[in-house]
Formats: sequence, structure tokens, C-alpha cells
Amino acid sequence: MRNRSGRHFLQIPGPTNVPGRVLEAIGRPTIDHRGPEFADLGLACLEAMRRVFRTDGRVFIFPSSGTGAWEAALVNTLSPGDRVLVYETGHFARLWAEVARRLGLVVETIEGDWRSGVDAGSVAEALSRDTGEPPFRAVAVLHNETSSGAASDVPAVRRVLDAGNHPALLLVDTISSLASMPYEHDAWGVDVTVAGSQKGLMLPPGLGFNAVSEKAWRAGEEAKLARSYWDWRAMDGANAAGYFPFTPATNLLFGLKEAVAMLEEEGLEQVFERHRRFAAATGRAVQAWGLDFNCLPPEHRSASLTAVRVPDGFSADALRAVVLERFDVSLGNGLGRLQDRVFRIGHLGDLNEVTLIGTLAAIEMGLSIAGAPFQRGGVDAAMDHLAAGPGTPD
Ligand SMILES: *Cc1c(COP(=O)(O)O)cnc(C)c1O
Repeated sequence: MRNRSGRHFLQIPGPTNVPGRVLEAIGRPTIDHRGPEFADLGLACLEAMRRVFRTDGRVFIFPSSGTGAWEAALVNTLSPGDRVLVYETGHFARLWAEVARRLGLVVETIEGDWRSGVDAGSVAEALSRDTGEPPFRAVAVLHNETSSGAASDVPAVRRVLDAGNHPALLLVDTISSLASMPYEHDAWGVDVTVAGSQKGLMLPPGLGFNAVSEKAWRAGEEAKLARSYWDWRAMDGANAAGYFPFTPATNLLFGLKEAVAMLEEEGLEQVFERHRRFAAATGRAVQAWGLDFNCLPPEHRSASLTAVRVPDGFSADALRAVVLERFDVSLGNGLGRLQDRVFRIGHLGDLNEVTLIGTLAAIEMGLSIAGAPFQRGGVDAAMDHLAAGPGTPD
């Protein structure tokens, strides 16, 4: 590929742009993961992630993708044949359900429309209709469905479980929302939260996380799915002193410590507010262009990405190709049944107003070059919103 001047804009909904401070931290010489210096790093990372997950409980860090952390959440809490209810909000929920099936769990899904978040009423209905024996052992939902751009009300799902006194564990994927959108592992009563390094945490891919409630930990003592690499118990023993039962991703942990320091210097609340504001500005652009949001209910629209539908007969992938080729900006593609119907704008992680405006300008130019039926003025509408500053109503 030819050299290009300027910086590539990685505006897909993960991996996200990795800030220089984090890259520098990662670039430090690798240290002995069994030596004294490592223990401080290990303990600092575990403590930092407790603050990000908002939990006083256990957090585990695996050298893995998010998919690995999905598997860890399942094999540590469940037994072969256990029934799991998965809410299919989109492509990623479907993939998590497939992981569960391949592990020997009995998965039932609530079919979503891939255009909205979890409807807690449908979860209540599925649980009350359920006459299966034994009852569901786990309910799995995504806090933020990255394929559809829809976020979900996790506390509403918790309330449904509590109202029926249902014993199921609540498993939540926050891979594209953690550190971008408000999240409370303890206060929301989540049993296992799954996360990954490459989205809101501003790191390269390569770390997977589980935050674990006391109830999930106890379930782990009975769980009979085969587990070795993902076993929380071996992790827990070594983590107590800041170490790992196998070689950890030492350099990514350097980066993690730095990334959380950056998030806390800005203030997590301000980070969330920035993401909300950028989502609102992006929404203004989409409306001005006369394009449709993939996520229909405005209150479900994600703060970390926006999935935009293209007019019938027009190819989203053709637009993405133009925007990349001409302006060196990467946009997310449509996944699964949304392939070529949707393009996704990542506005999470390390970005500012100008990054966002640059991205939206590339899209507006791309729509024009590709001959899409649309109206100009999206960038102007976004600029008006951003110029009004923090605190402006969405
Ligand atoms: C990115 C993503 C995943 C997949 O994570 P990998 O690191 O690619 O395994 C899963 N769930 C959600 C919600 C995601 O956004």
C-alpha cells in the first residue's frame, strides 16, 4: 500500500485509536512476570479495572480477545446441558449464543429485530412462560450491541429477574461500552461482566476481562463445564499477590495502567459525557443527511457508535471503500444480516471534536462521490452541536 500523509482515522467501533501515551507505555521493555516489579503492575491493573467496572469483587484479566472472555464467563459458571437464555439484539449476541451452544449448553434465544435494545418485557415473558426443567441457569444480554448501534437497559433486566425471584445468573457483554458509557457491575447486580481491551479502553486488541459477583464465583465451585486456560480459580490464587498462573500480556498491562490513568485524569463522568455529546452530534449529521438510523428508538441509541442505514439500491460497502480510498478513514461494516445495508461510525475511545468532524466530513464527501441520494449539511449540523459545548441538551 502506498504511503499516505497525515494520520489514518480508525473510526470503526473497535479496535479504536490508541493514544501515544498508551503506545509509549506498551513500548517499555518487557519485565519478568514472576519478579517483584511485576506484582505492583498486576495489582495496579486489577485495582484499576475494579474502578472501571465499579465493583469491589473479583476481576480477571486474560490475554485474549473479547470472544475468549465470553467463553470464560460461561465455562466458569455453568455445567453441560444447563439452559441459557440469550437476547438476540444482533450479530454479537448471536455469536455469544453460538459459543454457548458449542460448549454444550442448551441455548434459547429471544429474537430481537436488530434495530433496538433489549425489551425487558420480553425477558419477563420468556421467563414466566418457561416450563423447562431445570430453569434457565443464566440470562445473557449485551449492554451495547455493536452490530446494530443499540444499547440496552441492564438494570431493567435485573429487575425482571428479581421480580420473579429467578435464580439465573445475569451475564452482560460490555465489550463496546465499558469506559464509554455509564456501567455499574455491583450496583446493577450483574453476575459476570465481559469486556475487551480494544474499544473504550483505548488499547490494542489482546486483553479480555471478566468482573465476577460473589454469586457467580460460588456457581463456579459447582460448574462442570471443562475449563483449564479460563479457570478463574487458578487466576484468583495467583492474582492475590499480583501474579498470573501463566505468562500474562505484560506490555498490554503497561498500557492498561496508563489508559485507566488517562480516563481518570479526564474523569470517567466526563468521558461518558463526551461520548454522549459525540453521539448526539453524529445523530444530527445523520438526520441532516436524510439517512436512517439502524437503531429505531432514540433512547436506545448507543453513545459509542452509530449504525447508519443506506438507501435501498445503494451499497454501504461501496461508500466505505470510497471513504477509505480517498480520505484514509476506516468505517465499520454491516455484520450478518446488516451486511452492505449499514455502515457504522465508531465514536468511542480516544477522539475529540475535530476527529469526529473530520470523520463526518469524510462521510459527507464520500456520500457525494459515491452518488448516494442524500442532503448536504450533516457536518454543519454536527458542528453546531459541538460548538455549543458540553452541557448542551442532546
Ligand atoms: C467487538 C465485540 C465483540 C468481539 O470481541 P473480539 O475481541 O473480536 O472477540 C463481542 N461483543 C461485542 C459487543 C463487541 O463489540
